[in-house]
Amino acid sequence: MENQRLSPMQKKTKTTKKQKIVDPCPICSQELHLNHEFTQRVGLLDNYDEVVGWLCPHCRSEFDIDDHLTKFLGEGNIRGEA
Ligand SMILES: [Zn+2]
Repeated sequence: MENQRLSPMQKKTKTTKKQKIVDPCPICSQELHLNHEFTQRVGLLDNYDEVVGWLCPHCRSEFDIDDHLTKFLGEGNIRGEA
């Protein structure tokens, strides 16, 4: 028989204040957080419908899934080839 114990991860914190989640675009600093489930980030899919990155709807900069900038302000390429 397992003992039913409270997990140490359950912490009783005061929830009087709503937790403010901020998720600003690293380029234009516009807020990308929409709500607890959604973000304003626009997903970029490859040919296999796999998410390979995201696009900021405000400044149209594109990023890979590690938040590395791949397209600055929606135009031109970051130097990829020498
Ligand atoms: Zn942006």
